[in-house]
Amino acid sequence: MDSLTIRETFLRFYEERGHRRFPSAPLIPSDPTVLLTIAGMLPFKPWFMGDEPAPVDRAVSFQKCVRTNDIENVGRTTRHLSFFEMLGNFSFGDYFKADAIRWAWELSLDGYGLDPDRIWATVYEDDDEAERLWLSETDLPADRIQRLGAEDNYWWTHAAGPGGPNTELYYDRGEAYGPGGGPAANPERYLEYYNLVFMQHALDADGTILGDLPAQNVDTGLGVERMAVLLQGVDNVFETDLFRPLLARAEQLTGHRYGADDAADVSLRVIAEHARTAAFLVGDGVLPAKEGRGYVLRRLMRRAVRHAGLLGVDVGGAAPVAIPMLEAVIDTMAAAYPDLATQRELITRVLAAEEADFASRLRDGMARVEGAIAELPAGTPFRGDVAFELHDTFGFPVDLTAEIVADAGLGLDRQAFEALMEAQRERARAGAKKGGGGVPDDVLREVGAAAGPGEFVGYDVLEVEATLAALVAPTGTLEVAGEGDEVLVALDRTPFYAEGGGQVGDHGVIETATGRLEVVDTQEVLGGLRLHRARVVAGEVRPGTGAHARVDVERRVATGRSHSATHVLHATVKELVGAHAQQAGSLVQPGRLRFDFPHFEPLGRDTVEALEQLVNRRVLDDPTVTTEIMDLEDAKRAGAVANFGDKYGQVVRVVTIGGFSKELCGGTHVPSGARIGTVAIVREESVGSNTRRVEALTGLDAVAFLARERVVAEEVARLVDVPTAEALTRVQDLVARLRAAEKELARLRAADLATEARRLADAAVREDGVAVVTARFDGVAGDDLRRLAAEVRGALGTAAVVALGAANDGKAQLIATVTDDLVARGVSARTVLAPAAKRVGGGAGGGDDLAQAGGRDADGLDEALATAAAEARTALGGG
Ligand code: ATP
Ligand code: MG
Repeated sequence: MDSLTIRETFLRFYEERGHRRFPSAPLIPSDPTVLLTIAGMLPFKPWFMGDEPAPVDRAVSFQKCVRTNDIENVGRTTRHLSFFEMLGNFSFGDYFKADAIRWAWELSLDGYGLDPDRIWATVYEDDDEAERLWLSETDLPADRIQRLGAEDNYWWTHAAGPGGPNTELYYDRGEAYGPGGGPAANPERYLEYYNLVFMQHALDADGTILGDLPAQNVDTGLGVERMAVLLQGVDNVFETDLFRPLLARAEQLTGHRYGADDAADVSLRVIAEHARTAAFLVGDGVLPAKEGRGYVLRRLMRRAVRHAGLLGVDVGGAAPVAIPMLEAVIDTMAAAYPDLATQRELITRVLAAEEADFASRLRDGMARVEGAIAELPAGTPFRGDVAFELHDTFGFPVDLTAEIVADAGLGLDRQAFEALMEAQRERARAGAKKGGGGVPDDVLREVGAAAGPGEFVGYDVLEVEATLAALVAPTGTLEVAGEGDEVLVALDRTPFYAEGGGQVGDHGVIETATGRLEVVDTQEVLGGLRLHRARVVAGEVRPGTGAHARVDVERRVATGRSHSATHVLHATVKELVGAHAQQAGSLVQPGRLRFDFPHFEPLGRDTVEALEQLVNRRVLDDPTVTTEIMDLEDAKRAGAVANFGDKYGQVVRVVTIGGFSKELCGGTHVPSGARIGTVAIVREESVGSNTRRVEALTGLDAVAFLARERVVAEEVARLVDVPTAEALTRVQDLVARLRAAEKELARLRAADLATEARRLADAAVREDGVAVVTARFDGVAGDDLRRLAAEVRGALGTAAVVALGAANDGKAQLIATVTDDLVARGVSARTVLAPAAKRVGGGAGGGDDLAQAGGRDADGLDEALATAAAEARTALGGG
């Protein structure tokens, strides 16, 4: 059975049993605290945790997953991948253990045709019920059920919340895979393929079971690749139809035959597997970066490149491996994931650049590790902080450091390294948290449970009568808030838009009979509860009272313009630069928008201009703006664009603008296109590798910006005294003329100085064969004075002392220079100048052949020059 059939068999089996089918969510989860989608249940988490009501009782899905904790295993075990696909059936407070177990058994036999005599199950050691159900609901005999401890068979979130036992299904692959004894004894022979988690208990933060949950859920996972191993009669996940083409390509590129050598096989698998994960990550909007998801991608690419190096590929050389590997991945996987094909150019370009970058680091890093080893005092392990710095600053993987260090017969101080890594992760986590203004999650859950999420009515109205449902502070809920207090306010219904989809939260006013609140932000927390961040500006407010809620209309309208403009821009950018320019982030503010998208080079002035033109042309056509609520699948079929990282329920809102833009979007928009007004692009720049950012102003803000630009243009035109339309030519002309004039001036000055120098030299009188020349050039600046002195000295040739002075703005400047023959006789320019400098209230600096001085008192300049001359004569006499 091929992998496409394995997916479809599972989905159909559960659809026939009342489950609604959900497509794979992106690898970037909507939950900002989770790095990557690691299981099929993750997109459903708000329903499982009770943060949002589940719109269905039963769901079935296939889900792309990336697990970073399995990366080191990849290539070494027969069953672990960093990217894999999980099929899952889910019950939200509906069926429980009996149905889940019976269906898992039936699916295994009737759906997949597995041999019932080779199936084993494990259950949690305290879960008698599960074992009993295996015996009553299926033909599984008692001697093929094993009990395992909490480590293997109990699931919980490691925080206060739900948890429960699980039961896992295994398939005995036979004696060829090692000794028997069941899955507890040999997980490679007995391959785990299906895991059923029963969310049964409420736990506290220590993991103590508090009791049974009111609504019990089922969450399951079956790995597509592992089922393919069982149904395609192969030894491991790499020999299935999903990987054979990838291994073949890796063989071709490295010249190693798969199956010939164990170590080479590991490397071939790593190259094939990591290329697959990397392609999917980039396809879902992850780009290589120093931390977070981007770092996972980077780490995978680096591991793959390193293994290519181990197989003798000249990494960084003439034949890079990334592009051909990625082509193979896309060709193999595009049938199930068509998005990969449309992202082909982005995926290959981004990862080829990453490969080239790492290839050069690999060479540098090797040298650094070897250098650090050479400096180690004998008998000490390789320092953890050095390994960390190599990893953190130079992007050199620690496992590679460890390997080189081990080759040199040394140990690595892993503990110190891990401590630094943990500190870094802690910083990253602290950065990722946001939301409920420092209010603990359990308080927010309580508020949500008591007050409800607060229905959003603000698409249609901006002002409503509501009930003030709760007042919340970091310390808990409040019974009253007085003037000056800052609180979070929950309403039973609200016209305030909560920040989401890039659009900022609404501002406005909430009034009760006794007080008035000024709302400065609106946020949605725990995936549903709307909270207004507000300050009591008059009187006091209490929960349970009536409230009049009014959104700041002007701000909201200006924000709607920017949101609609963002959609128009998004559609237009894609048309101009390519389908890969899918929105990767946006910020929608009143009168201003920011839009990020993947692209590998600057747009260039012409493209930016074309973009602005086309966007404004489309706005002027006054396209209709419609919003519709529809089924997610229908929306996708209609071609609606879903954005990376956004979370969508089964029912979605689709915003259509004219015939060119259709996006899933919960934001607020203008009622018709022309209401966007003017769109002015003010910046196009790079933000991190491979991401471009466009910033634009909309509506009145765009007009105000253009008006300011016009004022500048007019002012310039006035200054150069021509009509505005001619100002640019005129200024260009003036600049050109100014440049020419400056050049001419410099030429004249040089000629002038030369003439002047000759005149001084000619007039010089030699006494005892020595000429002492002094002169004053007021208004001549420092450099020119120095040049002049040098010219005079040059013209005199030998036996000369030259001292020149200049007064500029009441300040004095002096230069003295001495020919080399006199320097040899002990005359020093600096000694000559030192007493002279005192006459102008300054000091002298410099050397024997050239010295300079400056002073505040230009009045003493003549005297200073006379002093210099006298000093020179004294120096000569003394010499
Ligand atoms: P294992 O103990 O083999 O690592 P697991 O207990 O981590 O598996 P679950 O978290 O229960 O696995 O995931 C559910 C199913 O997803 C598994 O039964 C398996 O089919 C599949 N699966 C899990 N991890 C991987 C992986 N790294 N590569 C491929 N398939 C996986
Ligand atoms: Mg695992």
